[in-house]
Amino acid sequence: MQRMRRLRVNENMRSLVRETSVEISDLVYPIFVEEGENIAEPIPSMPGINRYSIDRIDEELDRVAESGVKSIPKHKDECGSEAYNDNGITQQAIRHIKEKYDMLVIADVCLCEYTSHGHCGLIHGTEILNDQTLDLLCKMSVSLAKAGADIIAPSMMDGRVGAIRKSLDENGFINVPIMAYSAKYASAYYGPFRDAADSAPAFGDRKTYQMDVANGQEAMREIQADIEEGADIVMVKPGLAFLDVAKEAALTFNCPLAVYNVSGEYSMVKAAALNGWIDEKRIVMENMLAFKRAGAKIIITYHALDVAKWIKEM
Ligand code: ZN
Repeated sequence: MQRMRRLRVNENMRSLVRETSVEISDLVYPIFVEEGENIAEPIPSMPGINRYSIDRIDEELDRVAESGVKSIPKHKDECGSEAYNDNGITQQAIRHIKEKYDMLVIADVCLCEYTSHGHCGLIHGTEILNDQTLDLLCKMSVSLAKAGADIIAPSMMDGRVGAIRKSLDENGFINVPIMAYSAKYASAYYGPFRDAADSAPAFGDRKTYQMDVANGQEAMREIQADIEEGADIVMVKPGLAFLDVAKEAALTFNCPLAVYNVSGEYSMVKAAALNGWIDEKRIVMENMLAFKRAGAKIIITYHALDVAKWIKEM
């Protein structure tokens, strides 16, 4: 008789045959920085997450350093400076982190947090322009690399990976990798982040440049295009509702895969946990293992500091 329970008899046996694990080195923690002074403002829809001005960002960075999490994408908040201004808030924050901490900094490249209309590209009337946007994304990428970003992570626009690769190379950044938001869906799960980044579009939606949530095969075409254009790491975003896409990407492409466990996924867990309805630690670790099982190497998550703590406790 086949007895599957033989390998489940105790924790030593189970850990011997365990197929996946979550390591601290898998984790990327997103932080929000905004212009101004003396700001450490909670984001109401994301319990436990704050946005910081640069003068107080060390409060957050010290926790990150302590946790052992090494990687941080940078989210710029509010408007004011241009995306490719070398003294912009994101550039300042990157320089600060690289001077003071031993961390890998992954810089988001998108215009939505800088444009007054909140779309990810330049607009003409109600149309989001593709090719004209690429020039700005290239300038922004070079500016972020100059500031010290270790990895450049561009959001979705056709052809942006190839264009950015060329610009980075021409400016001497041949060894700065690109982590492409390859299969980024037009998802409702970004709701709380919009709240945080103030980046809800003023008109329309992002469905002409982000992916239809109903599509899986199209994601493989997006990922393939990005790899052909020179992406070093590809990403599926959001994570939990798109694990099938992550799994297929992991099986199809020989390229490191990241998943973005987005704000809505975080907020749902937090809200239920705060109500005492779920066991937060077990639920979060289950989600992390799901990403690993699906084939992701890199998990970008607001839970990163908690997960790192729990891993150490184990
Ligand atoms: Zn955007």
